[in-house]
Amino acid sequence: MDFTHLDKPVQFLRGVGPRRGESLQRLGLNTARDVLYHVPRRYDDASSVDRIGELAVGMDATVIGRVRTKGVIPTRARLRIFQAILEDESGRINVSWPGQPWLDQKIRQGDTLLVTGPVKFFHGPQIQPREFVMLDREGDAGSGSEAGARTADPIGHVFVSYPASEEVPQWVLRGVFEKNLDELLESVAHEEYLPQTERTRLGLLGLPEALRALHRPTSLVEIESGRRRLAFDELFFLQLLQAKVRHRDTLERPGIRFERTNALIRPLLERLPFELTGAQAAALREISADMTSERRMNRMLQGDVGAGKTLVALFAMLVAVEAGWQAAMMAPTEILAEQHARKLRQLVEPLGVRVALLTGRLKTAARREVGSEIASGAAHLVVGTHALIQEGVDFARLGLAVVDEQHRFGVKQRMALAEREPSPDLLLMSATPIPRSLAMTLYGDLDLSVLDELPPGRQPIQTFLRGPAGRDDVYGFVRRELEAGRQGYVVYPLVDVSDKVDLRAATEEFERLSGEVFPDRSLGLLHGQMPGEEKDAVMRRFVEGELDLLVATTVIEVGIDVPNATVMVIEHAERFGLSQLHQLRGRVGRGGEASYCILVADAGEVSGERLRVFRDTTDGFEIARADLRIRGQGDLFGAQQSGHDPNLRFADLTRDEGILIESQRMARAIVDDDPEMRATRYDAVRRILLHRHAERLAFWKIG
Ligand code: ADP
Ligand code: MG
Repeated sequence: MDFTHLDKPVQFLRGVGPRRGESLQRLGLNTARDVLYHVPRRYDDASSVDRIGELAVGMDATVIGRVRTKGVIPTRARLRIFQAILEDESGRINVSWPGQPWLDQKIRQGDTLLVTGPVKFFHGPQIQPREFVMLDREGDAGSGSEAGARTADPIGHVFVSYPASEEVPQWVLRGVFEKNLDELLESVAHEEYLPQTERTRLGLLGLPEALRALHRPTSLVEIESGRRRLAFDELFFLQLLQAKVRHRDTLERPGIRFERTNALIRPLLERLPFELTGAQAAALREISADMTSERRMNRMLQGDVGAGKTLVALFAMLVAVEAGWQAAMMAPTEILAEQHARKLRQLVEPLGVRVALLTGRLKTAARREVGSEIASGAAHLVVGTHALIQEGVDFARLGLAVVDEQHRFGVKQRMALAEREPSPDLLLMSATPIPRSLAMTLYGDLDLSVLDELPPGRQPIQTFLRGPAGRDDVYGFVRRELEAGRQGYVVYPLVDVSDKVDLRAATEEFERLSGEVFPDRSLGLLHGQMPGEEKDAVMRRFVEGELDLLVATTVIEVGIDVPNATVMVIEHAERFGLSQLHQLRGRVGRGGEASYCILVADAGEVSGERLRVFRDTTDGFEIARADLRIRGQGDLFGAQQSGHDPNLRFADLTRDEGILIESQRMARAIVDDDPEMRATRYDAVRRILLHRHAERLAFWKIG
């Protein structure tokens, strides 16, 4: 297979040359392939294009016409208006751009424009465009007669508009495609890697057909088919990359084959005061299957706050301990590690399982003692912070490593816990519910278990939305909760840790709240720029009930459990993502008392859809789906720190879950069959993978 044609510099395309080549490069189009994949940003179906002769005042119109005359007219109010008379075969209309006289330099007589906007009445009907696109320029070498004919007769056509620039206007791009598209499509046909049978099964177009559909669609339906095929490509190669990482992490390194005895698991199940949820039981079956097999487990356990991940992790750890191994659980903060250790001890010390706690707070002597318990194997379960991955911590026989709140650790730190011989199994946990499609895209190298069910009998948190005018009532409400002996949180946004203005706002509010609003209560302040020990100290005072009200930026620990906290006020709620709000809200409602979350937001947002969705839903996965839908996937990727940058252009994770699942299945099947993809039938796939993902292959050290 030859990539050379599509990889040649853009200046060698017909009608381009060195000068235009440079302008195209400034638009980000360096090679012929870049041009081929530079697909339109906007489509107008001929059926949605109005005939000029049939326009009426009050309509929102989309028309295509040729500029018959044009010019700038001054008005008495010194406003200069650019006007053009647009004409199609049915009639003419005045199009008017107030305050944009410079358009006179851009638009020429004879240009063909697509214009959208309302039809108004000023000395006769006129359109005031919201948007316009120049489709063709008369007499330009770039627009062939074919394009002219198309403009004259729009029936059965879809009008395309490309992302263009000042330097490379629409009609230039259209000219480039007129002259080169057929040949580019012939070249890309050599890169087809999906056999016809697979394409048929998946209902996908061939690669050249898909790109043709995007550049020269004859219907809007065709555009969607083209997009789906390119979306599949994007997802498939990403999954292939991740399948290779997964293969390396789970198969190339020998795993431990744990023998299940149930010696600890059965008595623990009998001691539990409740039944496992269906989701917990299912996750445990998946984990147990991994642990008892040859393969090394590399699994992500996703579940909403309170879904019971810790208990699932405990069972997994007991599978290891029963079989004579140690298990470790790493948490991002000392408070969280201490909390885990306390809970685990309650559950398993009666069964004779020894739980050790290793954090940075330990004094040298105590630390040495814990260290030797870990090294001798006397400690069966070891809970700790980053201290676990520090130099000098030696496990006797580490069989399973669990990482809680995994997103709080870097890729390297997560791996460090499991980097020893033989390789311990790895269970990563995340309390950020994300839609399955997003999880598969970000963590395709891991296997995924999802706890999508909360234990029964939880008191739902009541959520209220208030405008700034309601703040005094909100304080009154908080006061009543505090007087009843409960605790609460007031949260301020701190979008960026370096944002001094926000930080001052939180600090000043803390002073105002403690000085004026709640002078008789003890308040604490928690923000991201405090040193770690100070943060821990404040948090600990809150956990122990010494503080009534915690004023905090978003650093409040995910996973921290203060059952007595029943009210949370979130200020400037409009500045948070929905998933982030959900994480925050999860700090209350952890005890038996009714709990409340009050969002204080801009008056405008109070009536908007976004915060209402949040107010009315407590299911984290549903909120995450709404967040994905409302904010778009770009933002969500930005929020994840991981070694992948999926950077999807065509795939839409709210709609493409089906093809995502297929792409993962296919990618994993190929890697299981032939990890290096040496067989000739994988030639195309291997070369495209190398070509597209060279940098990531290097990042993950897989070739
Ligand atoms: P997560 O880590 O997923 O946020 P936890 O593991 O901390 O959640 O569990 C939250 C609470 O729910 C704990 O108090 C735990 O004992 C309790 N819990 C866990 N599983 C169940 C269950 N199946 N039924 C009832 N309560 C449960
Ligand atoms: Mg947890």
